Amino acid sequence: MNEMNVPRPNNLDAYWMPFSDNRYFKSNPRLLARAEGMFYHTADGQEILDGTAGLWCCNAGHGRREIKEAIQQQAAILDYAPTFQLGHPIAFEAAARIAELTPEGMDRIFFTNSGSESADTALKIALAYHRARGESSRVRLIGRERGYHGVGFGGMSVGGIGGNRKQFGALLPYVDHLPHTHGIEANLFARGLPEHGAERADALEALVALHGAETIAAVMVEPVAGSTGVLVPPRGYLERLRAICDKHGILLIFDEVITGFGRIGTNFGAERLGVTPDIMTMAKGLTNAAVPMGAVAVKNAVYDAVVDNAPAGIELFHGYTYSGHPLAAAAAIATMELHRAEDLPGRARAIEPLWQEATHSLKGLPNVVDIRDFGLIAGIELAPRPGKPGQRGTEVFRRCFDKGVLVRVTGDIIALSPPLIIEKPHVDRLYGTLADAIRAEAA
Ligand code: PMP
Repeated sequence: MNEMNVPRPNNLDAYWMPFSDNRYFKSNPRLLARAEGMFYHTADGQEILDGTAGLWCCNAGHGRREIKEAIQQQAAILDYAPTFQLGHPIAFEAAARIAELTPEGMDRIFFTNSGSESADTALKIALAYHRARGESSRVRLIGRERGYHGVGFGGMSVGGIGGNRKQFGALLPYVDHLPHTHGIEANLFARGLPEHGAERADALEALVALHGAETIAAVMVEPVAGSTGVLVPPRGYLERLRAICDKHGILLIFDEVITGFGRIGTNFGAERLGVTPDIMTMAKGLTNAAVPMGAVAVKNAVYDAVVDNAPAGIELFHGYTYSGHPLAAAAAIATMELHRAEDLPGRARAIEPLWQEATHSLKGLPNVVDIRDFGLIAGIELAPRPGKPGQRGTEVFRRCFDKGVLVRVTGDIIALSPPLIIEKPHVDRLYGTLADAIRAEAA
């Protein structure tokens, strides 16, 4: 395909880039101008193999014609319609299609526009649920250290990343955190689910003992934490959390923003991990990221409690101008159709053994202190340069990019999450380039 002419922006100053080192970027901009299949192309015409599906979101690969056409057609039919006390058909269809993929009995879908909004929506629904059932003392929200649930005040407060919280003061009250499951010596270099650490879920019992179950509304965790460096749950850990929640009437929320839509070989992580939450968030892969959209799926009983117990009128005082936006709904339906037609979760499962082998082949390279993987997610942890955390990771990222491979780094952990259409030659190139970069950085 010929290079399309994508003009470089004349002005780099106006755009305040999110989660970025603006000064560094603007001194040496890496502009992704176009994408197709497994590849990005920079404004300078360089081909970049996408090892991260954008930001864990373009699961079906880039530039999918079916999604593009669905968006175009919908834009011609109905660009936008108000969503409060009114509806448009395609949002109902999109919700019904999502409900076909969620675990049984989780058939009620609330639309948002992002993972952050989904996290805050899930927390608000949990609070509304308890209040509707006459348990308004249940206001305490429990997250986990190193959890990431986006940047809204709810998700940020329940999230457990110091760097994302410190700038912003007191955050939400009545929030506690479970310990994370990272760094257990016996789990180093484990393949798939690690064996040790399920008992870390018992910290929830300790919080119940401390505060009283009657004060706790919900626990929110990612089934597999991605953004904080790929933390795979120890075998039995999520089951244990589920059992403690059940025992005490606490709602369990899974943040499936990354694990949804095939990333770990099933429609949602809940399915592969065999634990069903009460509420689950999603975004990213829902529309293959072609249009922003998020959603929250809840157990029917949660919906019923909020809706049936409300006095006549509005039941949940929450929603967004763009909830269920027609273009996003069209993109979501087309994406889910692609997932079905191409069995993308099945493709992910089929290539997982090869992916796992390639991931763990990095063991023994300089500074590699741990490797984790689950589904089509991998985390390669490097020892930080003494006194300079994050520098080594950044250096490896830059070296990979300059050689035409996009990886993601959080601190000194390299996180990989390719489009689910990845094939062996891509895996070979991705890991070959990454191995070279790790070696070169150490040299
Ligand atoms: N939750 C999880 C688990 C995520 O990984 C992310 C994004 N990486 C979010 C929430 C936030 O999503 P968004 O950036 O769309 O707000």
